[in-house]
Amino acid sequence: MPVLSRAEGLVDSHCHLQDSKFNDDHDAVLKRAQDAGVSTLVVVGYDIESSQRAVEMADSNENVYAAVGVHPHDARAVTPRDIDTLCRLADSSRVVAIGEIGLDYYRDLSPRDTQLTVFQQQLDLARSLRLPVVVHSRQADEETFAVLADYEREALHTWPKDRPLGVMHCFAGGLPLALRYIEIGFVISIPATCTYPGAEETRAVARGIPLRWMAVETDAPYLPPQSRRGKRNEPACLPETVQQIADLRGASFSEVADATAMTSAWLFGLGHIGEPAKQSVREVR
Ligand SMILES: [Zn+2]
Repeated sequence: MPVLSRAEGLVDSHCHLQDSKFNDDHDAVLKRAQDAGVSTLVVVGYDIESSQRAVEMADSNENVYAAVGVHPHDARAVTPRDIDTLCRLADSSRVVAIGEIGLDYYRDLSPRDTQLTVFQQQLDLARSLRLPVVVHSRQADEETFAVLADYEREALHTWPKDRPLGVMHCFAGGLPLALRYIEIGFVISIPATCTYPGAEETRAVARGIPLRWMAVETDAPYLPPQSRRGKRNEPACLPETVQQIADLRGASFSEVADATAMTSAWLFGLGHIGEPAKQSVREVR
């Protein structure tokens, strides 16, 4: 295993600071994140407007990066022009991924065939721009895996061999599925649900996957840790998730903090954190 240079703080790999729940105090939220040691945030879009706002936030905060994309809930409203808009937004050097994109067969807010089409269009965009993808999958485990396994096969020839293809955000599947995703080059992102009493499956994932394939996230304003259930989540809460993962693994807080920050740097190409872990995705499979 390569020696990783030390990261300078936690990376929240997925939050929605552009959400209206942060309209009144997003500067204070950013300050609290910094004070809590969360040095870097990836603000993720879920439709065109939230993607635009994510880019604006990244443009005006040096610790913030953006992902642009349309969530499966909104797939039915997507036009070819929207894909062009995402492509134009992704031109900013502050955009580090396409997302969040994927399949949601739990709420089924868009027809499933439309979700699949829009997911595929955005995967094609990501590959053409050489950007990783941030994937949302809910009650669509095998369908999402099938799409991404095909994507990996197609990407084999064009994708840099030493970069992950993307991240499974708020991973809620079991350990066997997590390991299958790692096999095809996807990082697994652990949210604060690992602090919930009933979340044995997520804890098994947090305990069982290699740290170098693990990212952490808040998904703020959603999914607060156990100590704040029912309240708004924010990036400053990320250390509670990191501590839980450290306890589960018998590791130190800083070991999990550093490793997950380096994984996010490697995934998103966040140069300022330090030289990303140079390792071939295919070499570790
Ligand atoms: Zn999200």
